[in-house]
Amino acid sequence: MKKGKKIYEGKAKIIYATSDKNLVIQYFKDDATAFNNQKKSTIEGKGVLNNRISEHILSNLSQIGIKNHLIKRINMREQLVKLVEIIPIEFVVRNIATGSLTKRLGIEDGTVLENPLVEYCLKNDKLGDPIISREHILTFNWLNVVQLDWIDNNLKRLNDFLQGMFRGVGIKLVDFKVEFGLTNESGKTEIILADEISPDTCRLWDTITDKKLDKDRFRKDLGDLIPAYSDVAKRLGILHEQSNVSAVNITKLSSVKKKRK
Ligand code: UDP
Repeated sequence: MKKGKKIYEGKAKIIYATSDKNLVIQYFKDDATAFNNQKKSTIEGKGVLNNRISEHILSNLSQIGIKNHLIKRINMREQLVKLVEIIPIEFVVRNIATGSLTKRLGIEDGTVLENPLVEYCLKNDKLGDPIISREHILTFNWLNVVQLDWIDNNLKRLNDFLQGMFRGVGIKLVDFKVEFGLTNESGKTEIILADEISPDTCRLWDTITDKKLDKDRFRKDLGDLIPAYSDVAKRLGILHEQSNVSAVNITKLSSVKKKRK
């Protein structure tokens, strides 16, 4: 597959065209941003870890019938994915209250929610990704009711699967954000999961200690982001238990799949 021109550059990823008009290459950068781009840094090795973790999760999702854009990982930083037209909505699912939810509504941090809470945000950096309601989505035709109901159902399935997967390795899935896109293959429009699922887009807390193993380590200046992401990768069986995690070694990530007891 020949890598073509850069067609889009986002905060953490770059999309390149390929010789196949339906496929693109998704490149994971080491850049980290938070608070609507006000805080920025480069964390060496983050892109490599997110590429591997997201590949692992999305390929597992394919196996349970949640269609997504991943074709295959090409190398340490790149994946071959289907070209989609991204739906301009961030879908957030929460199991435990933290982050913007606690600030917005004064809910105590760490409150366990009786049922998963779905929130929608408009993908618009200039407006600061404002939270929107189901009615906004329908009124402005960002999705029709069938599409929105279909996504809502899949968010629940996705949450169940991800919660189970992380629970099995001693991690609480606190919340996560996903994006969906539209594909048009042989004249048929379909919605599939796109973007990435990684510690950049999920909040992950150790089951016993509540240690944060996600991008909050950057947002809150807690440090040790790479060891935390590596810990997630090790627990998922993507990274060797014995790997001495450093920025240099991350480029030598092993592909050993070892299940943690
Ligand atoms: N999130 C994301 N990208 C965004 C905003 C949020 O991946 O642009 C994820 C975030 O990592 C968390 C969840 O969505 O897992 C809920 O984030 P929240 O709304 O609490 O965002 P905050 O403003 O605290 O980052």
